[in-house]
Amino acid sequence: MASPRTASVVVIGSGAFGSATAYHLARRGADVALLDQHALASQTSPRAAGLTSKADNMPVMARLRDEACEALARFEDEMGRSVDFHRSGSLKAAYTEAGEARLHQGLDTAHGLGIEARLITPREAERLAPHFKPGDARAIGHVPSDGWLDPAKVAIGFATRAGELGARLLPFTPAVELIQSGGRVTGVRTKDGDISAPAVVDAAGAWTARVAAAAGIRVPLVPVRHQLFVTEPIEGVAPLQPIVRLLEASVYVRYEQGGLMFGGYEDQPRVIDAAALPPGFDIAQLELDLGVLRSLVDEVAEHFPALRTARVAIHRGGAPTMTPDGRPILGTVAGLEGFYVASGCCVGGLSLSPAVGRTLADLILDGKSDPDLGPLSVERFRNRWDDTAGLTEVCVRQYARRYTR
Ligand SMILES: Cc1cc2nc3c(=O)[nH]c(=O)nc-3n(C[C@H](O)[C@H](O)[C@H](O)COP(=O)(O)OP(=O)(O)OC[C@H]3O[C@@H](n4cnc5c(N)ncnc54)[C@H](O)[C@@H]3O)c2cc1C
Repeated sequence: MASPRTASVVVIGSGAFGSATAYHLARRGADVALLDQHALASQTSPRAAGLTSKADNMPVMARLRDEACEALARFEDEMGRSVDFHRSGSLKAAYTEAGEARLHQGLDTAHGLGIEARLITPREAERLAPHFKPGDARAIGHVPSDGWLDPAKVAIGFATRAGELGARLLPFTPAVELIQSGGRVTGVRTKDGDISAPAVVDAAGAWTARVAAAAGIRVPLVPVRHQLFVTEPIEGVAPLQPIVRLLEASVYVRYEQGGLMFGGYEDQPRVIDAAALPPGFDIAQLELDLGVLRSLVDEVAEHFPALRTARVAIHRGGAPTMTPDGRPILGTVAGLEGFYVASGCCVGGLSLSPAVGRTLADLILDGKSDPDLGPLSVERFRNRWDDTAGLTEVCVRQYARRYTR
């Protein structure tokens, strides 16, 4: 498709955040152009684990998570294509006093939000997920409404539906510069020419800060490598067995393709310097390290004995973005009218994307959204985290052993 000369909104990046935003804009009749430097929906989003969870102790996040989870469960009705959502429920086990206290806090938060959540015995946990041996767990929480889906179907599902509703889909079209005049954005320069637009969304994933920096805007986030593997089929595992998370080890395990998916949050993740990535860099080129996951498996092998011997069939990873407070960056940017950011996914953006897209589209078209995205705006970091070393350190801390944050 030839690049249009004008649009009412240009969305840069067709990952889960950008594609969901483009879909909701198109659904509301906006003239939207969705650009990606690579093939549509091909970077971090399809490499995710696809876990969803609803509880969150920040009110705006709790509302977004709830809306997003239910939208993913109904995805096929609304979008005409499935994301294979499985409402498997989830278990979280804690093995220390501090972990137990944190788990109780999480259950209290869930109850406060009206989400069914309860403590279960190790025996019940093992009955629900026979591949999980709880051992000396001090507490195990069960949330039946959580689930998982096929991550490869989310962003492309949104992008395809956006196209059907009239959005211009422009793969292999890098945005090279934001065009601005008099304190407002007026368009985007691409390799194929300029697109004039009064609104531009930076949903460029690992490249978000680089896109914004070209307009003199600092978006404080740090891409880090996050990996998972999927084993060959294992007898007895089944799709509706709950996701299992171990709190202190910060690992997750779920069913996938007859085997088990295993992922986790190490202490020293590899930080990705997006500014130094060569032009045309593709996440498929990201160097992976199975050793990181093997070390995490060693820590928890007594709880998942099948992982000791199962062969790895799939190993993948991507570059999610971490922020200093572990929350996404969504919404307007003071000083550059018409410019919006949708990034800082903190390894939870795929499952949040339907609500991100809906609220951002409302904010762009109506000037407000419900819930108000103000608490998630980049303005909360204004005049802070200007030093790259300090920013990296705090973002790594947010990532490391993530379930203990
Ligand atoms: C192993 C792993 C497991 C995960 N598990 C989960 C999970 O269980 N649940 C969950 O919710 N999340 C999970 N995540 C996180 C999830 O993948 C991210 O939150 C989500 O993909 C973020 O989407 P995005 O749109 O920000 O980024 P991306 O999918 O990377 O999209 C950004 C897009 O912007 C494009 N772009 C960049 N610069 C430009 C430019 N200048 N011009 C045009 N296009 C540009 C890129 O090419 C890319 O396609 C996981 C991630 C990984 C890696």
